This record gives sequence, C-alpha cells and structure tokens, in this order.
Amino acid sequence: MTGRLQDKAALITGGASGIGRASAERFAREGARLVLADREGEAAQALAARLAAGGAEALAVKCDVTDRDAVDAAVAQAVERYGRLDVLVNSAGISARHVPEGADFDEAWRLVMDVNLRGSMLASHAAVAAMRSTGGGAIVNLASIMSFVVHPPGYGLSDGFNPYSPSKGAIVQMTRDLAVNVGDAGIRVNAVCPGFVETPLTKGITGNPNLRSAMVARHPIGRLGRPEEIASVIAFLASDEASFVTGAAWLVDGGYTAL
Ligand code: NAD
Repeated sequence: MTGRLQDKAALITGGASGIGRASAERFAREGARLVLADREGEAAQALAARLAAGGAEALAVKCDVTDRDAVDAAVAQAVERYGRLDVLVNSAGISARHVPEGADFDEAWRLVMDVNLRGSMLASHAAVAAMRSTGGGAIVNLASIMSFVVHPPGYGLSDGFNPYSPSKGAIVQMTRDLAVNVGDAGIRVNAVCPGFVETPLTKGITGNPNLRSAMVARHPIGRLGRPEEIASVIAFLASDEASFVTGAAWLVDGGYTAL
C-alpha cells in the first residue's frame, strides 16, 4: 500500500519532540523519507533510529534553527541523501517559559522571536531554493491559536509583553506572503494553528492542576489536544491531497477560538 506522502523527502524542524515528533511518526507511516532537524541531536538520533528500525528512511541532524549555516546544511543533507526536498515542516518553537534561566526581558523576547519566527524563515528560505530546483513542494508552518487570540489575563501566562503571540501572529503573515510569492513555482505554504496540545512545551500549564482545568474549559471539545491530532492535519497539508490549499491558516483547536 502506498502512503499519502509516499517517497516524499521531508525535513521536520523540532522533529525530536511533541508535534514535530508525532509528525515524523505519521510521515514515516505515510511513506515519507525523513530528515529530523533539532537542536536536541541525541533525541532526534534516537527517533530516527527507531523509525529506521520500523522500515522508514530517516536521518537526524543536530541543528539550531537560529543558525543560518546549520539550517542550510540540514537542507543540503536532505537534498544530498534523497536528491530533493518535497516538504518542510517548521515545528521548532519555544515559549517565553523556555528561555535560559537568567535571560533578561530583552533577551527572552529576542530568543522567542528568533526561534519561532526567524528560524521558520531561515528554514523556509533554504527549502524554497531547493524546491524551486525540483519543481515544487509544500511548507507547513506551526502557528497557533495565539496567532489570533492571546492568553487571558490572570493565568500567569502574560503581562502584556509576551513575545509568543506576536511571534505566532507573524508566522501567519509570513505564510501568506511566501505563499503569494512562490505559488508559481509549485510551492504551497500553509500554517497550522493548534489549540493547547499536551507536549513538553505546555508542561508548565498541564502540570498545574488549576491552570490545566482552566485551559481545558476554554476548549469546547472538553479536553486538550494530542500531538497526533495536529500531525494528521500537517500530513494532509503536506500531501498532494491539499493541492489547492495555500496561504491558509488552519485552526486545529478543539473549538478554542469559537468560544
Ligand atoms: P516541544 O517542546 O515538544 O518540541 C519543540 C521541539 O523544538 C523540541 O524538540 C526542541 O528541541 C526543538 N527546538 C527548540 N528550539 C530549537 C532551535 N532553536 N533549533 C532547533 N530545534 C529547536 O513543543 P511542541 O508543543 O511540539 O511545539 C511544536 C510547535 O508547535 C512550536 O512551534 C509551538 O510553538 C507550536 N504550538 C504548540 C502548541 C502546544 O500546545 N503544544 C500549540 C500551538 C502551537
């Protein structure tokens, strides 16, 4: 049986954990050939080895998405190994809770914007060049419900200067801008906008019973999301089944933004 991503060469940033990891597992089941690019090189390596043991083609690359040379090298490795790059998933991301201890306000703001926004731009920049040379491809960016709404006050998540929402809002605009400019090269660019999903990124919320139940209450579906539920939409957008979908921001949020 052929998968919906059969033989497509796909690079997933942040592929070692959470939504990136679930996407890697889903893509492998759909027949994709993978490059997992993550700053956690050992975790990416372990996942690539596990996927390879299951019969998939998977390569791990230690890569910090804020480092243009490292990102260019990751894309070059995909092209060297598979002869092309068909899909890029920009899943590497952090929140303000994940900046190194001791970082001051400005450093924290800069780092979140740098990883989430500039990192997605750098990987897209390198990927578009590779995709143009082989006739097209698909890019899926991880935006968020926080591209459209913000954390409610009083949840200990925001003081009005949280860089996460601005970084994710900008990703939706970058998605549209890129889609408009690379459509004629056969490259589709879309964003997925998840609600709260249970991953290491959201542990600070899901591990706190009060915050957790407050967050669950904001999802009309009555629970938080699972990484696999985001990965299935990413797999669709990356596949040829989504051939007329570009410049779009897909909410996958259990109804959060409808409330
Ligand atoms: P996660 O923490 O489980 O995984 C993020 C991965 O990115 C990790 O493997 C980490 O090592 C990697 N990473 C972080 N900084 C990096 C860098 N500079 N270079 C390379 N790799 C780096 O998080 P997740 O929940 O899977 O989030 C994935 C994406 O989805 C993020 O962009 C996040 O903002 C977005 N998102 C998550 C949620 C959620 O509720 N979990 C909701 C909306 C959007």
